[in-house]
Amino acid sequence: MIYDKVIVRYGDLVMKGRNRNQFEKRMQQQIKRALKSFAALTYAKSFGRMTISLNGESFEPIAERLKDVFGIISFSPVIQAENELENIQAAALQVMKGLEKEPATFKVNAKRAWKPFAHSSQEMNHLVGSHVLRAFADLKVDVRKPEVELRVDTYEEGTFVYNTVIPGAGGFPFGSNGKAMLLLSGGIDSPVAGWMAMRKGLELEAVHFHSYPFTSDQAKEKVIDLARRLSYYAGAPLKLHLVPFTDIQTRLVQAKQDSMMITLMRRAMLRITEQLAVRSGAGGIVTGESLGQVASQTLSSMNVIGRATVLPLLKPLIMMDKQEIINEAVRIGTFETSILPYEDCCTLFLPKSPTTNPNLNVVERAESYISELEQMLLEAVERTEVMELTPEAQPEEEPAGEDRWF
Ligand code: ATP
Ligand code: MG
Repeated sequence: MIYDKVIVRYGDLVMKGRNRNQFEKRMQQQIKRALKSFAALTYAKSFGRMTISLNGESFEPIAERLKDVFGIISFSPVIQAENELENIQAAALQVMKGLEKEPATFKVNAKRAWKPFAHSSQEMNHLVGSHVLRAFADLKVDVRKPEVELRVDTYEEGTFVYNTVIPGAGGFPFGSNGKAMLLLSGGIDSPVAGWMAMRKGLELEAVHFHSYPFTSDQAKEKVIDLARRLSYYAGAPLKLHLVPFTDIQTRLVQAKQDSMMITLMRRAMLRITEQLAVRSGAGGIVTGESLGQVASQTLSSMNVIGRATVLPLLKPLIMMDKQEIINEAVRIGTFETSILPYEDCCTLFLPKSPTTNPNLNVVERAESYISELEQMLLEAVERTEVMELTPEAQPEEEPAGEDRWF
């Protein structure tokens, strides 16, 4: 490996009009957190980017990790040269000689971001290009479609010479846009919605409704696994609220409003989530809904369900097709877990013909007949268990303390 540093780019456009300092600080913190297992790395920050010295660590596993950090636009393994022509020329040769396969064509793309440097970008293209050409007999310049684009970026702290730009996940650094509650089922959609919300800089706490003992321990394990995966992307532990929903569901079934059952359940879920959100200081609720996918996801259903809360409902997947969502689930590594065949609390109580067009007045009236509903929602909130999850399952703890059923 000829490269000794990695330059990580973030910021510029997206940072305009925002609190730039805070944004940068968060970004640096997230990068360091993501790479904390690589002990030898050292970090230097500059405006809108960070330079990481590898100090002997290998680049590939670091690249794998960096690809998943939100807010990063792109990154490159580089050689950093002092701002002297000979040093830069030498670094250029090193990069070219380090290529896996000798290319037939190349071009130099120099950028002088530090104006006091003696040579303009045009001059550098020429000075570095001709130096490389002298060293490779068969190499030609192709400015339109070169096999290799040799980049030479001159900043105040030095000149970075490299030929690869790896795209980052984009978005905003985790937590830079506030906090929301994620309604996390065991399905395919909601983990993807969570990933997209986090990419936009939202910190998340997950909320899962279970109908133990009608739903199994495996169903719960599945949600825990999904939450662990999301915590990997968060780069921080993720809270999972496990809400006991059996009593409420059983009571709603007794209302004998079969076709409105899903509507009533979803509204109850939102009310509970809103209370949890207030306690957690979250300002919104994220769901995995996608327009038209099921009866509860028609415009009319979403209208009646959404009125159960005043918090903004964020639905990142709303306009996506199922196949697009599946592709994302595969890419972020939640698909395999999501398709495990364990029952969800709602499918258990699913009516034969759910309405696609509920009437708000009728729904509100049905709820008003259940005088103990408010109290039951409160109790569910009180009995909610919270787990704090990290990407890896912790080693078994000594069997001490309370008995927990998960
Ligand atoms: P998913 O694949 O996320 O389960 P879905 O297409 O199966 O979504 P629904 O089952 O109708 O659709 O659920 C719509 C949304 O409601 C989910 O994306 C999720 O955000 C929320 N949700 C459903 N069931 C639960 C649950 N048991 N706990 C928490 N949230 C849930
Ligand atoms: Mg579902």
